[in-house]
Amino acid sequence: MSPDRRQINDSRLSLFGHGKERLIAFVCECADADCRRTVTLTAAEGSELRQQGKPILFRGHVADEDGPLAGEPSTETSESRSPEAPTRKGSG
Ligand SMILES: [Zn+2]
Repeated sequence: MSPDRRQINDSRLSLFGHGKERLIAFVCECADADCRRTVTLTAAEGSELRQQGKPILFRGHVADEDGPLAGEPSTETSESRSPEAPTRKGSG
């Protein structure tokens, strides 16, 4: 997936995202590089998707699974389990 469409959407969001109810025509960020669909969302909806790290997609289109959206480093969340030792005494 080319980052161009994401950059376009980012710039549109920063340009027009002042009024939350304002409609913005975003570009579909699906895996199809030739996709020219526009996705009309309100500024609030667009920014919400961005905050969640989700792509802006036309209805029914799917994002590229191989390409992680955000260029963030993968943070491994290690589940820290506290071992509970049974405190039983006595033979039984
Ligand atoms: Zn698309």
